[in-house]
Amino acid sequence: MAYELETAAAVDAVLKASRLCASVQDHLIKGQTLEKGDKSPVTVADYGAQAIVGRLLSQAFPSIPMMGEENADALRQPENRSICERVVELANTVTEGLTEGEVLAAIDWGVHPGGPRGRFWTHDPIDGTKGFLRLEQFAVALALVEDGDVVLGVLGCPNLPHPDGSAGRGAVYVGVKGQGAWWRPLSTDTRAPLRVTTNRDPAATRVAESVEAAHSDQDESAAIARRLLITLPPLRMDSQAKYAAVASGAADIYLRLPTRKDYVERIWDHAAGLRVITEAGGRVTDIFGQPLDFGLGRGLERNKGIVATNSHVHDRVLAAVAEVLGDT
Ligand code: AMP
Ligand code: MG
Repeated sequence: MAYELETAAAVDAVLKASRLCASVQDHLIKGQTLEKGDKSPVTVADYGAQAIVGRLLSQAFPSIPMMGEENADALRQPENRSICERVVELANTVTEGLTEGEVLAAIDWGVHPGGPRGRFWTHDPIDGTKGFLRLEQFAVALALVEDGDVVLGVLGCPNLPHPDGSAGRGAVYVGVKGQGAWWRPLSTDTRAPLRVTTNRDPAATRVAESVEAAHSDQDESAAIARRLLITLPPLRMDSQAKYAAVASGAADIYLRLPTRKDYVERIWDHAAGLRVITEAGGRVTDIFGQPLDFGLGRGLERNKGIVATNSHVHDRVLAAVAEVLGDT
């Protein structure tokens, strides 16, 4: 099967990075932060996760570069000494014997600029940092881009309820181009397929959107929901967990409506999610119905916002988006 080795390595890396982030969040829950408002736990987990993913992928595939959200510049500054030491310590809980130099190099494995040709990984070590600090949803995202096309997407969602309706939480969601989508719990090695809903009636759908009103216009999404006669309240959650929610049928639609004209979406915020939803039977475009272009560097420079659906209601949603945005 195509992408078998890449998928195995990506799932392993995301599992380990997700567990690392979840353990830092557990410590937050147990009240071990120094002060209220201290953002250092998310900073440490963020760098720690990228170090693990960068290390594992650079060893498994030395010829595939990575574009990560982070780089190690700030960690080299003297004022961040203690954060740097905590990152090294944390990375060593996953891979023993890593020196500081190796950890910084692993983070800096993620400096690839992207572009239209060749293969590269794109990685967001903690997507949804606000959710992480609120002890809510966040995701570890990793995707493989090939000539501008996302061919593999892996999302680690440590706090998302399992899609099988059990009481379990925490899973990895995977989509491989042309091979479908599946999920597995963080803690056990069992796989089950992912499928979007079969809902064709927009009025019966549920919309997922950001918790942060600064990231997606919630008034406009409410107006769109009214136009589609949607009665269910929006499912608000941070991070690409929203893509996992649509891929598994917990929601039918994910709307991300620009709050600023000049904001360019980052490719690591959408690449993995796009492949997972698409392989689960869904569809992802921007708000104008255009396909997302991952071949333009770090940003989705030619797209605005995101509309992701179970595919059946996609055109109806795009029409409602056009009507509402045309009015404002
Ligand atoms: P979410 O958790 O879905 O609200 O999205 C989190 C992501 O929003 C972060 O990873 C940021 O890259 C991204 N972000 C930051 N500012 C904005 C903005 N003004 N509009 C849209 N996304 C943003
Ligand atoms: Mg992000």
